[in-house]
Amino acid sequence: MVSTRRSKVAVAICGSYDNEKVYRAVSGAIGALGGIESFVSPSERILVKPNLLYPSESERVITTHPAVISAVLRLLAEAGCGSVSIGDSPANGNCVGALQKLGLTEDSLCGARIADMSHEVTFEYPEGKTARRFYFAREVTESDAIIGVCKMKTHMLERVTGALKNMYGLVCGFRKAVGHTTYNNAAVFARMLCDLYKATPQRLHVMDGVVAMEGNGPASGDPVSMNVILASSDPIALDSVFCRLVYLSPRLVPTNVYGALAGIGTFEESEIDLVLIDEDGGESSVSMKELVERCGNPDFDVLREGEKLNVLTLLARITGGKRKPVIDPARCVKCGVCVDHCPVEGKAVSFASGRSEPPVYNYKKCIRCYCCQEVCPKKAISVR
Ligand code: SF4
Ligand code: SF4
Repeated sequence: MVSTRRSKVAVAICGSYDNEKVYRAVSGAIGALGGIESFVSPSERILVKPNLLYPSESERVITTHPAVISAVLRLLAEAGCGSVSIGDSPANGNCVGALQKLGLTEDSLCGARIADMSHEVTFEYPEGKTARRFYFAREVTESDAIIGVCKMKTHMLERVTGALKNMYGLVCGFRKAVGHTTYNNAAVFARMLCDLYKATPQRLHVMDGVVAMEGNGPASGDPVSMNVILASSDPIALDSVFCRLVYLSPRLVPTNVYGALAGIGTFEESEIDLVLIDEDGGESSVSMKELVERCGNPDFDVLREGEKLNVLTLLARITGGKRKPVIDPARCVKCGVCVDHCPVEGKAVSFASGRSEPPVYNYKKCIRCYCCQEVCPKKAISVR
């Protein structure tokens, strides 16, 4: 049977974080999808969800760049949207602090309000296949529409973090860490994300890939220029285009595989229409091959283990959890952030040798959630 599904991904070339250039690129990409007005209406309560993993300067590429966030907010303001808030639930610190670190205050948000992501609401979702209850920030349940503004980054659990994974920040504070113990491997975590996605009023995704993060992501990796901004209403198609651009098979990413199975979107090249927007605003339809030739990076450092395996074998390997987090004592400042964030009861990483030594792992307890690696402020933890 021939599939009738079609998803559209717009890719705008953007060579720098100059505010006007970014605005033109974001505007061009969303324009190619029909314009912001085709996703939201002015009377709706709209939550813009960037990736604010933790408070850090934009140069560290841990978070969505403020120019991309501002461009989306400006478009919404220009469309007459009068009830816009911006919020994320960082792994460390809080939303206001993370935005301040990016130089964004309420005065510079085009009339948008900073969401209070600290009030938790229990949200029952009986339709869920894997997760039937979420602990969302109240702002999430009070929104009519959500627009994701994610960052193009690597991730040790899911290989990449993009549009779908970004939505985990809708979950309130410490509940995120606890969620890793409930959904304790890459496959089941991805399935939970699919339920979360379907439980919330998702409309559109914009990905900041001007400068991406490769290597030891999502917080300890290295910046790499990809010079693109992507947009789509289909998070799976968008994330799969990210994969193609870095020469990673989309099938190796659990969020893509389960997202497609859940009917959220498609990673099939034959089902994705691509529009390329040049820096001068010129728009053209391109094939995936043409796009990758123009914008791809075969040297992008991302976990490629298992590229020769089929999906089932790969997922078996993922859930087997062979890799593990390792601390580099030369980088460790013994701050204890990793210990604080380990969600396992009794801690799988601790100062078992005393506070004068780096923490040590108990790999028998460790569930390989990599929360410790994600929050280490000194890039001292890698996954091997
Ligand atoms: S978070 Fe990083 S720097 Fe801090 S104790 Fe853990 S490994 Fe060391
Ligand atoms: S030690 Fe790290 S990877 Fe292992 S369970 Fe704790 S936070 Fe997760």
